This record gives sequence, C-alpha cells and structure tokens, in this order.
Amino acid sequence: MGVGVLKPALANIVGQELARKILFKAASGGKISQAYMFKGPAGVGKRTMALAFAAFINCRDKGPDACGRCPSCKKFASNNHPDFMEIVPEGAAGIKIDQIRDLKSKLAFPSFEAAHRVILLADIQNTIRRPEVANSLLKTLEEPPADTIFILTVDEAAEVLATIASRCQVVPFYSLPLEFIRRRLEAEGLEPTAAAALSAISGGSLGRAIAPEGRELLALRRQVVELLIYDLSGPLPLPELFRLAETCAGLKDKLAYFFELLGLWLRDLMLFAIPGQEHRMVNIDLVHLYQARREGWQLAELSDKLQALSLARKQLRFNCDRRLVCEVLFLRLSALP
Ligand SMILES: [Zn+2]
Repeated sequence: MGVGVLKPALANIVGQELARKILFKAASGGKISQAYMFKGPAGVGKRTMALAFAAFINCRDKGPDACGRCPSCKKFASNNHPDFMEIVPEGAAGIKIDQIRDLKSKLAFPSFEAAHRVILLADIQNTIRRPEVANSLLKTLEEPPADTIFILTVDEAAEVLATIASRCQVVPFYSLPLEFIRRRLEAEGLEPTAAAALSAISGGSLGRAIAPEGRELLALRRQVVELLIYDLSGPLPLPELFRLAETCAGLKDKLAYFFELLGLWLRDLMLFAIPGQEHRMVNIDLVHLYQARREGWQLAELSDKLQALSLARKQLRFNCDRRLVCEVLFLRLSALP
C-alpha cells in the first residue's frame, strides 16, 4: 500500500482495535486457529494485519509482539519470508483452480523455517462463487498441514459459504476514520487540500485514498469545475466543454468515482451557500474560484444540479454512452445563475 514504513507488528496497526485484540489474544495465549477469515471493506488493513500476525507468531524473540529485529521479523519486514505465501486473484473471476492446485502441491512439503507457515488467500469473494474452486479451497482448509495457518480475506458484503465460514474464525474489520486517512495522506506528502478531498471520498478505505488515480482525478475535477463556473461575461466555451466530456468519458471504469468527486463539490457549494458551514467543505483548493459568487447560488438550484448528477450516475449504471452522459451533465451543471 506504500505505507509499510513501520515494521510488521500488531502494535503498529491503527484503527482495527477489535481485530487486533482477537489476534493478540490468540497469539499470546498460544491458542492460534488453523484458519481465520478477515472480513471487512477493501483497503482497511487486512493484509497488513495478516503480515503483522504472521510476524508475531513466528518471532524468534518470543516477546509481547513481533520484535522487528530477529531474522524472521526482518524477512517479514522486507516482504520476503519463504513461509508467508500470498495467493491473490488473477483477474476478476478470482483465484484460479490452478493456483489452488499449485498451493496444494507446495503444502505437501514442510515449511522452510517458520514454526507457523501462513497462507494468505486474498479477496476470496469472487473465488467462492465458483463451486469447483470453492470445493477445492474447502478441501484444503479441511486437511491443513499441522504447521500451517490460513488467512482468508473477504469483502464485508460477500456472502460466504457456511461450509467455508465454519472452518474459520471470523475476524471483523471496519472502515477507517476519515481523519486518520487524511493525516496519513499528508504524511505521504500530499497537499492538505488534496488530502482532505481524497479522504472525504475514500469511504474509510486507505487503499482507495492512496491509489494513484485519485490524484489524477483531482486534477481533472479542477479543470471541470473551472469550466463549469466560467466567467459569466462571456458565452459558455462549448468546444472546451465537449473536449472535457470526451476526456472524462475516457476514464471508463473510473468515471463513477469521478462523479463521486463532482458530488462532493456540489455538496461543498451547498455548504458554501449556508453561512457558517464553510468549515465542513472538503474541496478547499477550489474555494477561491467561487468566492465572489456567494450571492448567486440558491439551494434549490444546487439541488437540481445534484439531481442531474444522480441521473448521470444512473445512466452510467445502465451503460449509456459515456461521452453523451458527460456532455449532458456538464451542460446542466454549467447553467449556473
Ligand atoms: Zn522477531
């Protein structure tokens, strides 16, 4: 995730208190389950937690947490421990049957050096929809080698087969506080205004907030907003509007995310129209663009624009032509008083 500057240790993980407590208790009490299911939204630290837990239970120092100094901890810190295996989905359909077969053949051999070999099966929500793969996975969980621990990560909304869930201890993960994400983005070198905007639309997912496309979309958002609140003394620059609509249509899958950004901007305009609410705005870097226009905006008109955006989102879900959706949306949004 690009934030792994700290050594893998349970104490270094922020924002997942319950999960941390469960795993601390298991590891320090010597009651480690053979399989865990980390369930929660994407990008909130499930993999980081798995790595920290694996480091802790294999630490040679036997202290209250992973020491970060012993040979085992050092290998975990460099993401290079031979007994920590990660099986990640290859494509949208999830983990392939060949990957499970390959895993099984590796499990037939003893671990290299660790007391607890850890197998991370990531994002199994799509994988378990296919009966053949789900059955193969289940068989692996049913006959685990004695020294092996499985950690399955799964999206919070996924319906997990009871047969698989019953083999695992479920560990819940939650969305991260937005303030935590904002501070983390700033620590990563992002400007405060960009950090505020990206954290606000992250939905509590650090993974989503630090994804590189977020920054690209912020820059495009600025161009679109500058166009939409053009100088009223001249005519609406239509060629520019069509050009930007085409650029936005080119975002493809990310267009929905971009519309979320525009929604956040419209929400800001509404806050701007209500005296005393400016501090709740998130697109702080854009405020100077509409500073002089406070009198011009009425909540009813802004509410119409939010409706236009909501219609555009719906059209996107129904696979309407993206460029046309953007053009119509921008025309409706630009009709500011
Ligand atoms: Zn150690």
